[in-house]
Amino acid sequence: MRLRIRRIDWPRRALVIGDTPRPDCPRCHGHGGWDHHYGDPVTGEYAGTDWEPCRCWDEDRYRVLLPLPRLPRRRTPYVDPWATTGCSTALSAAERGWPVFPRYKLEPGWIDADVSGWELTGEHLIKCHERFHPADPNADIEAAMDWAEGVIGSRQDWRHIREQGFDRWEAGTS
Ligand SMILES: [Zn+2]
Repeated sequence: MRLRIRRIDWPRRALVIGDTPRPDCPRCHGHGGWDHHYGDPVTGEYAGTDWEPCRCWDEDRYRVLLPLPRLPRRRTPYVDPWATTGCSTALSAAERGWPVFPRYKLEPGWIDADVSGWELTGEHLIKCHERFHPADPNADIEAAMDWAEGVIGSRQDWRHIREQGFDRWEAGTS
């Protein structure tokens, strides 16, 4: 029996000391076992995978040294394939590697997984807001401009730009 410290993930995450596979084992080559794929006996289709430990060690002989905290659930940021920008994090344009223009850009987009809204971008400025009037596009645009001007702090002259079917509004020095 070769005692080593290793990490287990089941039944819970922990550092354990216990038996380890023989590094020069001719059967498992130190891997400790095999993934054994099995099929449905009727259809023959893949039905699952069993872990088959090698006889060179006893997987279940270990003692917990240190329970480890659960892995934090990481929220996968949603990336909308159609959106040119994302607003899940508050990074500046420069941090995102975008070209930085001394002007503001207001465009509709997905601000969260299933929330459409407006994105205001500019130098060191990124803000998102849900749609103001989802049922009324014109009122929505007006409200978005008012909101953007409130964020910027001054009235702007917005120019409507349509590129490849996408609308956006730009203001500021060009
Ligand atoms: Zn082995």
